[in-house]
Amino acid sequence: MSASVIDLSVVIPFLNEEGSLVELHQRLTNVATAQNLNYELIFVDDGSRDASNSIVHELKKSDPRVRLITFRRNQGKSAALEVGFSQSRGNFVVTMDADLQDDPAEIPNLIAKLSEGFDLVSGWKQVRHDPITKTLPSKVFNKVTGFLSGIELHDFNCGLKIYRREVTQELHVYGERHRFLPVLAHMQGFRVGELPVQHHPRVHGKTKFGAYRFLAGFFDLTTLLFRMKFVTKPLHFFGSLGSISLLIGLGIIGYLSFGWFQGRWIGNRPILLIGVLGVVSGVQLFTLGLLAEMIAEKSARTTPPLRPESDLLDQDKLR
Ligand code: UDP
Ligand code: MG
Repeated sequence: MSASVIDLSVVIPFLNEEGSLVELHQRLTNVATAQNLNYELIFVDDGSRDASNSIVHELKKSDPRVRLITFRRNQGKSAALEVGFSQSRGNFVVTMDADLQDDPAEIPNLIAKLSEGFDLVSGWKQVRHDPITKTLPSKVFNKVTGFLSGIELHDFNCGLKIYRREVTQELHVYGERHRFLPVLAHMQGFRVGELPVQHHPRVHGKTKFGAYRFLAGFFDLTTLLFRMKFVTKPLHFFGSLGSISLLIGLGIIGYLSFGWFQGRWIGNRPILLIGVLGVVSGVQLFTLGLLAEMIAEKSARTTPPLRPESDLLDQDKLR
């Protein structure tokens, strides 16, 4: 099978999902055959310690469309997606969770939506079957991410998504960036859409992400937004902050100096500390910005520019 004949790659990261894999494989096969698709199923074992790996091994024996990539230890969902993306050969790439919470029956709808002219279509778990401890923080997370990134999506971190091949080849997913794939794609100039999808309660096994996920999510969001707006012009960020700090500091010191010339002792005024702090931090922020500018200049020489839009048109369409 060469790259051009595969319509669809489904990338499925899994960690200890022994209870779901056989049924998932069956349902995916039903959907893809009903659609008459030329497809491959890429299972990425993210360091499972249960029977998951041998189950997929067995599936592989009877189904040549199954591929298995195995990590020796748990590397995280982002790493699993990255490897799945790099191995995928399909013109379109679908990602989905392995726990049967995402529904393979949505794949034809995702393909149809993508064909309306998007490069990435993200699932939206409109009716979500998860405990409130997960859904509530998730709502806040989605609102903040949407507001700060300027992308109007309801559900950034849905496991079920479809991409054009160009997107998966270009995105670099590491750390925990899988939560922000639509933001990353948008930053690269791809067209991002959304489609409400069915979501099911988890029947087998348990969730792999605890409450820390939300704190981690906001750290990653800060990094991303900084990158999105200032990576090529860091002095605009540090310089603005530095100027404000410097101005406040100089203002205070100027005011105190004026008093000193009129004979007022200023050594015991608490505001003096604030003034000095303002000047010192201002200068530091400025120099930090200048240093960052030098790094940005260096990396601009080695980073290729964004690909032109025309490259992304005229995609091979699914039959
Ligand atoms: N997963 C993974 N590596 C990890 C954590 C999770 O491959 O380190 C997989 C997991 O097996 C599942 C998907 O990522 O297929 C989503 O995980 P989970 O269902 O635990 O997330 P939730 O639905 O609770 O957000
Ligand atoms: Mg799940």
